[in-house]
Amino acid sequence: MDSTVEAPRDVIPAQLLKGQKALVTGANSGIGLATAIGLGRAGADVAVNYVADRDAADRVVEEIAAHGVRAAAYEADVSKEDQVTAMMDRMVQEFGTIDILVANAGLQRDAGFTEMTLAQWQKVLDVNLTGQFLCAREATKEFRRRGVVPEVSRAAGKIICMSSVHQLIPWSGHVNYASSKGGVQMMMETLAQELAPEKIRVNAVAPGAIRTPINRSAWDTPEAREDLLRLIPYNRIGDPEDIAHAVVGLASDLMDYVVGTTLYVDGGMTLFPGFATGG
Ligand code: NAD
Repeated sequence: MDSTVEAPRDVIPAQLLKGQKALVTGANSGIGLATAIGLGRAGADVAVNYVADRDAADRVVEEIAAHGVRAAAYEADVSKEDQVTAMMDRMVQEFGTIDILVANAGLQRDAGFTEMTLAQWQKVLDVNLTGQFLCAREATKEFRRRGVVPEVSRAAGKIICMSSVHQLIPWSGHVNYASSKGGVQMMMETLAQELAPEKIRVNAVAPGAIRTPINRSAWDTPEAREDLLRLIPYNRIGDPEDIAHAVVGLASDLMDYVVGTTLYVDGGMTLFPGFATGG
């Protein structure tokens, strides 16, 4: 049985990210939505990126603004260079700068290997990997231009890449997705190494199974839930807030010495749970 108790929403210190400006991609659904709200609760001003469903983005903006910080919805397809540069220009113009990028937008286009079309392969790589590359590159230009502002943060900027346990765990029927997240890991580590001397911190969060629309089929029937829980030693499916809390922590100066790390937030999914009884 899933031992879920509702995720606490009030554990985030309200001033932790005061005065910081954050951009969250894919922020009108699931993990991005919870993360954008979490950053707002922590005192950051937040730009809510979306590619479709403006109404959902507006609702997120409203909820963030209720915490007394600034929020705005920015439409952009993260896989399109011109749209990403335009979004970042707008962010700098309207928010003044950017301190935190959460490169979260992602999708799946699942198929067995020989059935997978080039279009399915390409779409997932374009959004999940190239999208993070483009957003990280444009944010880095602004971090570099502005440098460290000690009253705001010890770092010149923070990038948090949304990866997945599938940067580590191979996943049959999802070669495009697993390859994209493996790529995210190496991109994140390389950027972390390259940018650390400029006080730009790059890290990743790797969620396990989180209850969002992307993986509804894995948790929305009792049978599917039971199968899934066998893979999770902590015996509950994650909530988007579990990821939001990790991102807020990583983005804050509490974690100023954390550079180039992947924080697995997965209830132990990467602990080879099959070996708890086998092996
Ligand atoms: P979701 O489908 O609820 O959210 C994905 C968001 O990305 C949506 O807002 C979607 O519109 C947006 N998006 C898709 N293509 C885009 C594009 N081209 N430009 C801008 N935005 C785009 O799913 P989620 O579970 O919240 O996923 C968020 C991230 O977390 C993804 O990177 C996903 O791979 C990762 N992740 C999720 C889980 C999970 O269990 N839910 C596990 C591991 C990793």
